[in-house]
Amino acid sequence: MYALRLFAVRHSRAFQKIYQVFEASMVAMDPVFQKIGYERLEKPMSVVESGVKGLLFDCKMCGQCVLSSTGMSCPMNCPKNLRNGPCGGVREDGNCEVKPWMRCAWVEAWDGATRMKDGLDRIAVVQPPVDRSIEGSSSWLRVAREIAAEKRQMKQSGEKSRFALARAFSKARGIEPTAAPIAEEPSAALADHVVGERSSKFTATEDGEQAK
Ligand code: SF4
Repeated sequence: MYALRLFAVRHSRAFQKIYQVFEASMVAMDPVFQKIGYERLEKPMSVVESGVKGLLFDCKMCGQCVLSSTGMSCPMNCPKNLRNGPCGGVREDGNCEVKPWMRCAWVEAWDGATRMKDGLDRIAVVQPPVDRSIEGSSSWLRVAREIAAEKRQMKQSGEKSRFALARAFSKARGIEPTAAPIAEEPSAALADHVVGERSSKFTATEDGEQAK
């Protein structure tokens, strides 16, 4: 719905926060999703996603949602499906050259990005071309699955390096005293004549200390 699409852009910061919470919840649900099977969830989730995002953003279910990077303005609403900025035909009033009744999706994207946290950094990221083979699939599920897999991998590699360290130092840990004694200073380092010798190598001048 066009009016809601404009509303979402005007409130892009709020939608960004809502999405961040939602994304974190989806990632947290990964163990459940794995049990059920992501493939089995694909159909019902894409129906829900299409309904919600269709209503709020006029989402076209490209399968590679970039709303967080385009100020909550879906670039698939651009008649040319441009994913990296506007064409040269934006009208003076900011409307689209192909659909004069509609605001240019990229004029809206810039507006929304200025309201979002890191919005201008995000909108500057070059987006890859649309992969039509995943059109209609759920971006929510794909992103949750990717982030969860990445976290698992990081956790596993962190544990692996911890185990490797523990194995390498297992013997040392067995004989390690609970509190290591502080090593005594070598007496030669503390002897008065050594200190005197060192200081005698310098003489005081008007400009300060100078080595002999
Ligand atoms: S004016 Fe904007 S929405 Fe219209 S075709 Fe060009 S980039 Fe797309």
